[in-house]
Amino acid sequence: MEIPPKNNRDTKNSRPRNLLPKLSRKRSILTRYVIPVVLVVLGIILLTIAAVRVISFSMRSAAAVQERPISDVLNMADHHQLKSVTISGNDVNATGTTGQQYHAVKEDGQPVTEIFRHDGVSVNVVNSQQGAWEQGAIDLVLVLAVLGVMFVFIRRSSMGGRSMPFSRSKARRFNESCPTVLFQDVAGVEEAKMELEEIVEFLKQPERFTAMGARTPKGVLLVGSPGTGKTLISRAVAGEAAVPFYSVSGSEFVEMFVGVGAARVRDLFKEAKDHAPCIVFIDEIDALGRQRSNSGTGGNDEREQTLNQLLVEMDGFDKNANVVIIAATNRPDVLDSALLRPGRFDRRVMLDKPDIRGREAILSVHAQGKPIDPDLTLTDLARQTAGFSGADLANLLNEAALLAARKDLKLIGKIELEEAILRVLAGPERKSHLITEAEKAIIAYHEVGHAIVMRMTPGSDPVQKVTAIARGMALGITVSAPAEDRYLVRRSELLAKLAGAMGGRAAEEIIFGDVTTGASQDIDYVTGIARRMVCEFGMSPLGNVAYKADAEGNLMISAELASRIDAEVSLLIDNAYATALRVLREKQDRLEAIAEHLIQVETIDGVELDKMLFAA
Ligand code: ADP
Ligand code: MG
Ligand code: ZN
Repeated sequence: MEIPPKNNRDTKNSRPRNLLPKLSRKRSILTRYVIPVVLVVLGIILLTIAAVRVISFSMRSAAAVQERPISDVLNMADHHQLKSVTISGNDVNATGTTGQQYHAVKEDGQPVTEIFRHDGVSVNVVNSQQGAWEQGAIDLVLVLAVLGVMFVFIRRSSMGGRSMPFSRSKARRFNESCPTVLFQDVAGVEEAKMELEEIVEFLKQPERFTAMGARTPKGVLLVGSPGTGKTLISRAVAGEAAVPFYSVSGSEFVEMFVGVGAARVRDLFKEAKDHAPCIVFIDEIDALGRQRSNSGTGGNDEREQTLNQLLVEMDGFDKNANVVIIAATNRPDVLDSALLRPGRFDRRVMLDKPDIRGREAILSVHAQGKPIDPDLTLTDLARQTAGFSGADLANLLNEAALLAARKDLKLIGKIELEEAILRVLAGPERKSHLITEAEKAIIAYHEVGHAIVMRMTPGSDPVQKVTAIARGMALGITVSAPAEDRYLVRRSELLAKLAGAMGGRAAEEIIFGDVTTGASQDIDYVTGIARRMVCEFGMSPLGNVAYKADAEGNLMISAELASRIDAEVSLLIDNAYATALRVLREKQDRLEAIAEHLIQVETIDGVELDKMLFAA
């Protein structure tokens, strides 16, 4: 979804600059084929002429002229063996009394003229060398020029119309073509906005800060999971301050060749300084700013050099250079500590997943211009979307609008919004996915197994929907969401989650006496939770100890302790599976009835599930 341009005040103060010339993709045959061919032919002809001249000249001179050190030539002058001398620049060409030619090179500023004159040699000083040699040099320059032009052409055509040398930063100037984003377009992150307000003030009126002797902000690190609006809010800072916005991704600096990334960093900063005040946005800075490991030898040279260059550039910033670097990451823990020191990215702004009020605010930003059924409230929608990021919410409303448009509706209704929620969670339905009756039964039992165990274990999130339709990567899904935002999760709730997740496999086991690969996601999920319960949350007999991996992902513990951790993890999962089996055996008749119903209708919601589960 695009935000319509609110105003164009940021294009007002920025002259259109031809930074990265946009060449049309469709290039004429003339420039594409004819000119390069002509240039190549010309180049070859010139090169041949030049080569012939240079070779013949050097052969001629090798025969006639003797190369001597300058001291020898001076000695000869002293012994009156020289007739005349021609000096041009540092080249000394002497003719002996026998007619023999000598050549020597003097040092810069060495006053040989007087010595020769003193020795009675006639000295002829010329400003530049003449003759074949000079001609050869001119040819060479010409050839080089032609080769240079050819090189540019070849690069242009091979880079899809862009004539960028290798070391140019790939930073894109953003807000020249894109609509301006303002703080009002970013919702639900009030604290972050407040923190960034100061950056805006600084970019607008740097004098106010420098007059107070304040060290001006240089780097801001935005920390938040994907889709929380890091890019958006950075653009909003540029929009509010009405300054140019350069965007580049950390991974673009990391190239195959050592030194290229560093050159790009240099180029980026040069460009930024030329266009100050401005904002440079480095997305995914963890790609280049990872902790430098002291173990590996070489290997990471390129990234390290690039990172060093970045640090150097940030340190070298003139105090008054009005450039603010905003970097984004969702892995602040892996960043090199050097990046976070004062004067670098010393400000951190956190962007959390929005809470219910935040979600409502974000929804209302993105609901603008979308006719939503007035009976529905965004508050309700916000309640149903716990855990959604800003990007998910934007996506949700867009999907709903697309669905409504496809159905030719006047308003976006409840059905479209609910379908859109599922789409965001798991992807679109795959109706064309051919599933045999037998497989469909397994999927239905599996999903109903999840739903019943969740419904029957206290501490589970309420079940909202069960489907046996393939969607995205999943063959069926059971949607449950907490009634409100949760920041603390009890141990009992985690155990309930584990049991619910094992409910699918337990149902397969009970009904079909065999299990399928369909539970692999569930197993992945429970393993993750169980491991965190043991290693991070202190929720196992191993005690309240954190067993954390270091930056390289190695758990620095003894093999014995590792196997005890594994045993505790397995125990948690085994118990969860046992719980699921027990619950489903008790409710086996309901499991069968609901699953058979689901095979017919493909989707049932939480209310219907309750009705069938608890009906007398
Ligand atoms: P990130 O860079 O953190 O991954 P983006 O800034 O690219 O996230 O967000 C993607 C899209 O999601 C934005 O273009 C916007 O439409 C929407 N979005 C994310 N967060 C918000 C927010 N707080 N308010 C409004 N829209 C948001
Ligand atoms: Mg982003
Ligand atoms: Zn499952």
